[in-house]
Amino acid sequence: MEEKLAKHYTAFETILEKAKSDFDLKWTKKMVPNAAFKDFVLKKTLGTGSFGRVVLAEHDKTKTPYAIKIMEKAHIVKMKQVAHTISEIKVLDCVKFEFIVGLEFYFKDNVYIFLVMRFFNGGEMFSHLRTLKKFDEPLSKFYASQVIMAFEYLHYLGLIYRDLKPENILIDHVGYIKMTDLGFCKKIDSSRTYTLCGTPEYLAPEIILSQGYSKSVDWWALGVLIFEMCAGYPPFFARDPMRVYEKIVSGRFSCPSHFTRSLRGLLGKILQVDRSKRFGNLKDGTKDIKGHDWFKEVDWDSILNRKFKPSYVPRISDPIDTSNFDSYEEEKLRVAPKEEYPNEFKDIVVQTSLPT
Ligand code: AMP
Repeated sequence: MEEKLAKHYTAFETILEKAKSDFDLKWTKKMVPNAAFKDFVLKKTLGTGSFGRVVLAEHDKTKTPYAIKIMEKAHIVKMKQVAHTISEIKVLDCVKFEFIVGLEFYFKDNVYIFLVMRFFNGGEMFSHLRTLKKFDEPLSKFYASQVIMAFEYLHYLGLIYRDLKPENILIDHVGYIKMTDLGFCKKIDSSRTYTLCGTPEYLAPEIILSQGYSKSVDWWALGVLIFEMCAGYPPFFARDPMRVYEKIVSGRFSCPSHFTRSLRGLLGKILQVDRSKRFGNLKDGTKDIKGHDWFKEVDWDSILNRKFKPSYVPRISDPIDTSNFDSYEEEKLRVAPKEEYPNEFKDIVVQTSLPT
């Protein structure tokens, strides 16, 4: 291994060890709500999903902008997503890493659960990719390197992410990424899981084939993301999801002619149906990926320490500029006379009086 990369691994290992002990300590603690609805003024919807919506808000006293994910308890129960939601809140609260969105506050009222995150105003990678059509290889490398380090962090803690896609990657005001939506993130440690979840184009073959899986699925998704960033479309693509799945399990994809040789080489090693051959999943772990020729000029420490200057920075006029987000119809929040579903969410949102 090249000397610089070896040095990076030594330093990064120390960071990960410390991060794991912080995480483990927090993981065992009960969460206590640390804010209330009256502390925030809601402004504008930033995004929606099957869970509910994410709204830009301002802290009443500090005027700090936040993104609040508002999830309706009744809906979560109806969709049988209680366990997923609890896991998302717990994970969000315990993770702390440069390239992952964390939780600043959370609370509930009679109807909803509110997760308060810092507001990252550059918008989704998805929108930038659609605008620019595709990213050049150096920019894709810059984004991919942050995703790789975020995965190394999560995997070191025993978590798998399972929902990598350009919609879940936010860009901050200087051009670095923040991975959001930890709804499918799961603590599996050294076990395997079987759940079918994720986005069709990003699913690894072992998920589709209902084989038990672990971290290997995140490395597969990284391959799909690198391809999509460089090409502007994903490697396994069809109108009908069943056809997408057929293509994925066949493992056949073709690269656009502008892909460099080293990029093709790397993708061939990551988008490898046979997990015993897939880069990221072999005995040398991420060294196979980070040490690959395609990443040769990447200075991992400089990116980790945010010293590297990104070649692309979203246009942002002020801290609450939402022009990088789509517009959504606003909806009034529902109110209820008494707490709905107190039992389903009691483990995570403990019933205590709120701090004033
Ligand atoms: P999520 O369910 O976490 O994927 O959130 C749905 C959408 O809301 C995202 O795709 C973003 O457009 C937006 N969003 C989520 N979290 C944030 C955040 N911290 N800052 C800005 N926008 C966010």
